[in-house]
Amino acid sequence: MNASIDTLNRSAVSQVPLELLDSIEVGIAVLDRNFTVQVWNKFLENHSAKKVDFIIGHSLFDHFPEIEEKWLRTKVDPVFNLKSPVFIIWEQRPYLFKFACNRPVTCAAEYMYQNVTMFPIVDKDGNVERFCMLVYDVTEQALGKLGMEHLNQELKTASRVDGLTGLFNRRYWQERFDEMYKLCVRRDKPSTAVMLDIDHFKRINDTYGHQAGDKVIKMLAALIKRCVRETDLAGRYGGEEFAIILNDSTVEDARIVAERIRQLAQRLVVEHEGESINFTVSLGLAQFCSAFKGPLAWLECADKALYDAKESGRNQYRVYDTSQR
Ligand code: GH3
Ligand code: MG
Ligand code: MG
Repeated sequence: MNASIDTLNRSAVSQVPLELLDSIEVGIAVLDRNFTVQVWNKFLENHSAKKVDFIIGHSLFDHFPEIEEKWLRTKVDPVFNLKSPVFIIWEQRPYLFKFACNRPVTCAAEYMYQNVTMFPIVDKDGNVERFCMLVYDVTEQALGKLGMEHLNQELKTASRVDGLTGLFNRRYWQERFDEMYKLCVRRDKPSTAVMLDIDHFKRINDTYGHQAGDKVIKMLAALIKRCVRETDLAGRYGGEEFAIILNDSTVEDARIVAERIRQLAQRLVVEHEGESINFTVSLGLAQFCSAFKGPLAWLECADKALYDAKESGRNQYRVYDTSQR
């Protein structure tokens, strides 16, 4: 007879075929109120490398420092006080016992993910002095779910970001802009919208090719990212058009940012297949104004200022005069 079964107090898990305890792919332990181990099946023996003869009669906490004693005692309280089962799921705690993952081929996990059930063992007088602990290996299930969550996160990011530039795409930018607009209405804090468009971009495409044009767009986006704060909202609004909301910035603050972008863009040299490409940008600025009827009205003002910049000869920024509203 197996050593673990020798030590089993039969009333603990009565009527269970004894071989079953050791052949089953579930950890089974019986513990008393002091967490002294009374039963320790083969699954637990194999995964913990703690032999049954060694652990029986010892406190669980003496051998598994990864288990927080105070936490587990509190967790098990209802087993004794209410005679009700208690569950620990891997989403709450990845594992109770820090067992290595034993399926290296299919398993990307460092440790075995576990679900644990603890239920009372009621003696013939109706008292609970011991409880049974079942430890399930749920590594595959956990990795499947975590993998799916990771994939979903990646898909979510991909759906928000423009592939060429890494800036927010127009749809997501618009969503965030609508939220920002509402905040502006409530807080009445100054924020400024900037519309930016590359000058004579058709010529770049025509002269150097579409790929060169793409490279210009990409490098300009990186330049814009460097010039704005994390709290600002920068997006690729169209082909070679960008929209930026400078948060908590008056139009006077925005002038400084716009001029910096304009100058840096003018100085930027994009190398493509041995050619050095220069380009300039025009920008339109409009500060938030409570007279706006909605977010679109705000953006239209920035767009009008951009048109003004183009009309005035390009390679410059223009400011929409909100006092006109
Ligand atoms: P303007 O100074 O008036 O802005 O002149 P423009 O030539 O830049 O005029 P417009 O804004 O009308 O033209 C934009 C061009 O950008 C038209 C289109 O072929 C090109 N374009 C749009 N999206 C992309 C893109 O993703 N990559 C490349 N390479 N070109 C694009
Ligand atoms: Mg253009
Ligand atoms: Mg354009």
